[in-house]
Amino acid sequence: MVFLSEPPPTQADLHFSLFGFPVRISPWFWGVSILMGIRSGGPQELLTWVGVVFVSILVHELGHALAMRYFGWNARITLYAFGGMAAYESNSAMQQGQNSPRSQILISLAGPAAGFVLAGLVVAAIYATNRSFYFFFTTIGQGPYLDNPQLILLVRYMLFVNVLWGLVNLLPVYPLDGGQVSRELFMLFNPRRGIVQSLWLSVIASGAAAVFGLMLMESLYVGLMFGFLAYSSYQTLQAYLRGGYGGGRGW
Ligand SMILES: [Zn+2]
Repeated sequence: MVFLSEPPPTQADLHFSLFGFPVRISPWFWGVSILMGIRSGGPQELLTWVGVVFVSILVHELGHALAMRYFGWNARITLYAFGGMAAYESNSAMQQGQNSPRSQILISLAGPAAGFVLAGLVVAAIYATNRSFYFFFTTIGQGPYLDNPQLILLVRYMLFVNVLWGLVNLLPVYPLDGGQVSRELFMLFNPRRGIVQSLWLSVIASGAAAVFGLMLMESLYVGLMFGFLAYSSYQTLQAYLRGGYGGGRGW
């Protein structure tokens, strides 16, 4: 995640393997997902929300992990606090993988792309069952398909989380996926000043997103989140100019 570093392993961690990738779910993941969905309504709605967030973030990280494997690295997936991460396995020899701007950009894009594919599958399923796409966006309780409000909610959440999550992640903001892409692109065009330019873009883009969130969306959450990212991008910029940037991948 962006705000907190990866938490140490606990007894309450959930471990399993997915397509050969070790997956660890921190208890913080459930806590924050519940907090974010607490206003969704009753317990059934909350359960649907948490399930959608779980599947969506897992699929996003799986996209990164599959791309890492494609380029020759072992990966592991961790879901914690506000999101997830796919990291290179510490035992994987970095020399074996392709570490090029192209592979880094494709690994970063693979997360949002996996979410867009999942959203596309949901849309395909709607058409496959001969339902109107618009019915999912009319008010629940009106229209001819009143049979299953939970299904309607599931579809709305799936599209909302996967499309929005992907788009937000593509903003050129550190340490989001778009920030990694922007860093690689700036460095391709300007190896000497690329990182500084991409960090300035990150400060400006996250600052603009914070203002947009506060003023237009009237969302304190979005405002605070991007305000924090603008601040941390500025801190990273200062640290880099002093010569102490460590790097890192989140979300
Ligand atoms: Zn990502």
